[in-house]
Amino acid sequence: MPPNRGFQWQPVSGGRHAFDMAARRAESGLIVNALCGVEVSSDELQQIAPEVDWIREKTCMECWEILKFRQQ
Ligand SMILES: [Zn+2]
Repeated sequence: MPPNRGFQWQPVSGGRHAFDMAARRAESGLIVNALCGVEVSSDELQQIAPEVDWIREKTCMECWEILKFRQQ
């Protein structure tokens, strides 16, 4: 199983962050953390992000580094 399996990138306000699947499946109304520790409401995370957000929001380099490290 690839080590990065179970993570998903999602644009939220403030950037594209990587979230694990537990966060993706969190109940409504909870606060969940991206890999870098940024807090996002589960409701925002589970929305289907508008396509423009994928373009507009910058990739979070902290999440990126964490995933890269985990893949080594
Ligand atoms: Zn992040």
